[in-house]
Amino acid sequence: MKIHEYQAKEILARHGVPIPRGRVTSDPKEARKIAEELGGTVVVKAQIHAGGRGKGGGVKLAKNADEAEQYASEIIGMNLITHQTGPEGQKVKTVLVEEGMAIQKELYLGMVIDRNSAAPVMMVSEAGGMEIEQVAADTPEKIITEVADPGLGLRPYQARKLAYGLGLEGDLSRKGVKFMQALFDAFVKNDCSLAEINPLVITEGGDLLALDAKINFDDNALYRHKDTTELRDLDEEEPLEIEASEYDLNYIKLDGNIGCMVNGAGLAMATMDIIKLAGGEPANFLDVGGGTNVERVASAFRILMSDDNVKGVLINIFGGIVRCDRVAQGVVEAMKQVKVDMPVVVRLEGTNAKEGGEILNSSGLNFVVAQDLKDAAEKAVAATN
Ligand code: GDP
Ligand code: MN
Repeated sequence: MKIHEYQAKEILARHGVPIPRGRVTSDPKEARKIAEELGGTVVVKAQIHAGGRGKGGGVKLAKNADEAEQYASEIIGMNLITHQTGPEGQKVKTVLVEEGMAIQKELYLGMVIDRNSAAPVMMVSEAGGMEIEQVAADTPEKIITEVADPGLGLRPYQARKLAYGLGLEGDLSRKGVKFMQALFDAFVKNDCSLAEINPLVITEGGDLLALDAKINFDDNALYRHKDTTELRDLDEEEPLEIEASEYDLNYIKLDGNIGCMVNGAGLAMATMDIIKLAGGEPANFLDVGGGTNVERVASAFRILMSDDNVKGVLINIFGGIVRCDRVAQGVVEAMKQVKVDMPVVVRLEGTNAKEGGEILNSSGLNFVVAQDLKDAAEKAVAATN
């Protein structure tokens, strides 16, 4: 789960991470008031989940309260397009108005759970700011990482090493170590999957501050953070993915035109691969789960069909725990509810595959029956083209 910058900063501040003063609003008049309270130069920042706001025109420095109100009225309601929103952009509802900082240097500080080392990893780079993706691609040696032992946490010597890697000395190095320990604490206690401070700035006054903040949470741990769940902003999420999450379906929308309904994440991945191999493009990843029932299959099917890009459907079920006849019933049920004017290719294998096939055949609906996975992918691609 993702949250907004201002929410991330509130959480980080509770754990001792220094952040600029500021407040969020959806009213330009209020933005003026906040700017007056803060005094001097302020920054008006669009609050959307995607990054790259600066380059897209969603972060503006305002010299006074007049300008702050002006920028706020331009940014609120705008459709902000960044490299992370995709071409359709994201509508801005609120802005964060913060004191403008005089910046000496922009650094990078990030944390993720690294699957290879099965541990939290902290990363830093002296080349912080808006080009960090380029740094990672062209000069990865400029990014320094420390793997924290999950039991021991980030040890002080590791934080010192990272601070040294950032070129911090003396008092700044001590501030850097404290900053990292506070970030680590926030990361672990909130079950984050990612935390990113870009830029982490050295101010003209010699302080370290989180000028930007991004936090993602591990969805599997949300059940133990009720207050975190309340920070969810459904306007920032793909509507079809929200509907899928209500039915406990693992659904990710993609750009292709073949809708896939598969049971099991592994089989779903293999199905996407083999569609590609046959020259097609999957429209989604969808795992209907192991012990699925008619209702979930029906809702999965509705979700697939409500994606305008979908020009054909491939149903690939291996009946293990789930029985093929139940899946077939769900599909027939769903096709009565939603009008299906496109080819549906079905491959059923395993438990009650024969019964499932009979249900489909006697339904009076039109299915393309495939013999195996390769055959199914080829038929789906041929039918969609
Ligand atoms: P992002 O583009 O979505 O990552 O948004 P950021 O919060 O990182 O802001 C983009 C850039 O705006 C930063 O890298 C800074 O260069 C600049 N910026 C943000 N806040 C301030 C500020 O208080 N003072 C100054 N001088 N620049 C700022
Ligand atoms: Mn940033």
